[in-house]
Amino acid sequence: MPITVVGSIAYDAVKTPFGERKRMLGGAAVHFALAASFFEQVRVVGPVGDDFGEPDMQVMRDRGVDVSDVERIAGGKTFFWRGEYGWDLNSRETLDTKLGVFEGFAPKLSPDSRSSEVLFLANIQPDLQREVRAQLPNARFVALDSMNLWIDIARESLVEAIKLCDCVILNDAELRQLTGKPNLLSAAREVLSWTPTASSSSTEAGGVGGPQIIVAKQGEYGAALVTADSFFSLPAFPLESVVDPTGAGDTFAGGFVGYIAAHQSEIGGTATAAAGGGHDDLSDDLLRRAMANATVLASFNVEEFGTERIERLTRAEIVARMEELRAITQFSGVT
Ligand code: AMP
Repeated sequence: MPITVVGSIAYDAVKTPFGERKRMLGGAAVHFALAASFFEQVRVVGPVGDDFGEPDMQVMRDRGVDVSDVERIAGGKTFFWRGEYGWDLNSRETLDTKLGVFEGFAPKLSPDSRSSEVLFLANIQPDLQREVRAQLPNARFVALDSMNLWIDIARESLVEAIKLCDCVILNDAELRQLTGKPNLLSAAREVLSWTPTASSSSTEAGGVGGPQIIVAKQGEYGAALVTADSFFSLPAFPLESVVDPTGAGDTFAGGFVGYIAAHQSEIGGTATAAAGGGHDDLSDDLLRRAMANATVLASFNVEEFGTERIERLTRAEIVARMEELRAITQFSGVT
């Protein structure tokens, strides 16, 4: 099932203890789309300026990503982000964010992008996420990512956006900040309890009953999956050399949502209905495999700067690392 993604398409300047890039292709929607493209057709929605290079657009096309809804704004500047990582890569400081063409951007989706049954609202202003959500009222599986900036300056709108989704994928610290709950499980349960209110317009809601799947990303410690009646957790894939974590979260989301979109037939209906409504073993199994694929995709992303490693990644490499991940997370018996 094709996926539509809206989010930043960016140029990033990144410094890590292992090197530096002054201007490289980045953005939440780009990292997501490249990862998800290993599983399903992806359509990217978002603006770029006239400084956005054709070779960078080609990186997405080479992975089969549909870029026809990437809007080039004449005279505008592509979103720019600059960040620097600490010595153990666990801390990151944002040094500059220039919204550029995202300021005043009104997403106009083509009939193809509107027809996708899976939607990913990648990290961008929550108002924009809601505008796009409203244009896909019949989407069967909607997931959302965000960040501390939007929790700080647009929390109310973000909460409304979350209520219109099936799945929320956030960093653990962001989940705590969003809910004000220091315990991760309690924070996830709080978000699971959110349902669309009268103020969430019925067109926006599209029949969704609020989030049923919470994924808490925990950086080098892995990720946890929380639903109303299940919990699952995986460590990050152990790597001796990590060069640049930029985009790891979006790549993780691309692996997770991409895998679900590609395997919806396995759960005999909508992911929403099976994952939230019934939670039969099969759907739980599907979500766990999606977590594993997400973990593997993210592990490749951090091996090199920006999109460099994912651009060369092959299916065979993904499958081989999935086998390794399964081997290192498996144990037999309880006594
Ligand atoms: P991640 O490392 O997965 O959290 O995502 C990093 C990507 O997010 C970078 O490629 C940035 O271009 C993008 N990014 C950083 N800040 C923002 C923001 N405020 N809004 C949207 N995208 C952002």
